[in-house]
Amino acid sequence: MRIKTLEHQWLHILSKRGGGDGEAARELQRLKSGHEGECEFDDWLEQFGRPHWKVFKDVWIDAGGITQIDTMVITGEGMYVFDVKNYSSDLEYIEGKWFSGGKRLNKDIFIQLKRSMEKVGVMHRRIGARGALRGMIVFTNAHSDVQVRDDADVEVVRRSEIKRRIQHMATEENWNEFLDIGRTARAVETFMIDCPYRPRELSDTEFDRLMKGICCGLCGGFLIEVGRYHVRCRCGHVEPKEKAVLRTICEYGVLRHERDLKVGEVHQFLEGVVTKKRVSELLGRHFKLIDSGRYAKYENPCLEYEFLFKDLGFYYD
Ligand SMILES: [Zn+2]
Repeated sequence: MRIKTLEHQWLHILSKRGGGDGEAARELQRLKSGHEGECEFDDWLEQFGRPHWKVFKDVWIDAGGITQIDTMVITGEGMYVFDVKNYSSDLEYIEGKWFSGGKRLNKDIFIQLKRSMEKVGVMHRRIGARGALRGMIVFTNAHSDVQVRDDADVEVVRRSEIKRRIQHMATEENWNEFLDIGRTARAVETFMIDCPYRPRELSDTEFDRLMKGICCGLCGGFLIEVGRYHVRCRCGHVEPKEKAVLRTICEYGVLRHERDLKVGEVHQFLEGVVTKKRVSELLGRHFKLIDSGRYAKYENPCLEYEFLFKDLGFYYD
């Protein structure tokens, strides 16, 4: 599973609760499409790669400068860095410039990978420069035709070539297997940092305008009938109540990522679908206590339910 960035989760919850402007909606769409492409590439790696490879997804490296990497794979032969692109339009690279539908793009699609590779190169040397180091840009979109009509100093992998390229990684490993994957991965981990960017903080006015309460896990609607053990949406979707409440607590945590979780504020966000005592119990059971007493505070994991509680089962499920 590939966890969405905090920015992505935040924009998603903000927009389904009626916040954010047109720019936020476009950014959310861009992040969503990027995430879909990355997940698709993950599936390919799982299907055609080898189970003992180490795969890092969406990581930040600090090696003489920081950089974000969509996917890094460590095999017995070396280290691979993938910049995954899910552009839906046709692209052409001619004489060092990118075009889409005959129009010149004002960005260089290769630049992000090139910058990443400079930093990863520093890291690679610092950990002994054993094994190969390769960077690739991967185009995953089935509706995009990518033509590179010029020498590019970046390896380009089109959708139709992904399977073969991954299989080739396995062949390369057969010929030159000399890296200790576990040890290399641990060395790489010492360069990893948390994502340094966080979404902005919502003002109280902006927060007050958002829709509160439980939002349907299927259709996103707010016309929810709350029963004793289940919640039922007008669309017909039924969810165990405890799960719906926990899911909503997580949404609150992502929206207000700069805050700790407090019983009173969480209870207010839930619009009274459960008692304060119940909120307190749930926070106590599933979140880490930071400060006890009358105004107890719990650690805010800043993660949506699907990532935080993916293995949690419910009695009334
Ligand atoms: Zn619904």
